[in-house]
Amino acid sequence: MTEPMVRAESVLKRFGRLEVLKGISLTVAPGDVTCIIGPSGSGKSTFLRCVNHLEQIDGGRLSVDGELVGYRQQGDKLYELRESEVARNRADIGMVFQHFNLFGHMTALQNVCEAPVQVKNVPKREAREFGLDLLSRVGLGDKCDAYPAQLSGGQQQRVAIARALAMRPKLMLFDEPTSALDPELVGDVLAVMRGLAEDGMTMLVVTHEMGFAREVADMVVFMDEGFIVEAGTPDQVLVHPREARTRDFLSRVL
Ligand code: ADP
Ligand code: MG
Repeated sequence: MTEPMVRAESVLKRFGRLEVLKGISLTVAPGDVTCIIGPSGSGKSTFLRCVNHLEQIDGGRLSVDGELVGYRQQGDKLYELRESEVARNRADIGMVFQHFNLFGHMTALQNVCEAPVQVKNVPKREAREFGLDLLSRVGLGDKCDAYPAQLSGGQQQRVAIARALAMRPKLMLFDEPTSALDPELVGDVLAVMRGLAEDGMTMLVVTHEMGFAREVADMVVFMDEGFIVEAGTPDQVLVHPREARTRDFLSRVL
């Protein structure tokens, strides 16, 4: 069996006395798209942040591409990774947030080239060529020299996706990438994500876009109050949910 890209086993996460993840277990196979749905406050963002080394887990095991997140195992002992080691592992994971946080004083192309040049020492010319490539792939070949303030929210989010892809990640995390967009701008961003999925990118996507989940996801996970209530194919979870809580949630969002 191939190693999953993401493997979570009984992952626990607390903030003080608040238990936010109460034993999350899931696997994401290479090339698969997993959509996480669920009400606000159920722990979806926290889980993505744990996968992306932004939070340290308090229990269970979490690995990306066979490597533990945040720890190194030697014998049966776990050692916390040093900051430089965490940075190296994070460089292989792309993350796209609800608010795109582009650098306002840089053009679209400069935003896309910044991390490869600064973090990975990619030669400027090579980063630029790949950046131009990526910007045309997200439909912004003619906006390379535009500054974020000159772009719509949907265009900025597509630059943010290109920026994440510029690091040649093996895993892409999306945290409600279209939630802050005007409705008419959502489609272009989802189309870019669908294209990525078709090209075989491994993706973990928190979204309220049920149409996207139904069409693109290999697996849908419904989370509520720090638990996975049910998981399965889009058809199993979105069309024929077994759990009352899933049905209740879907009746409110669909
Ligand atoms: P979701 O993304 O599903 O809306 P979150 O993962 O953002 O949920 O939050 C889950 C719970 O954890 C919420 O109750 C939230 O208030 C709490 N939480 C998230 N981040 C922190 C933090 N840094 N410190 C304390 N509580 C937090
Ligand atoms: Mg969230």
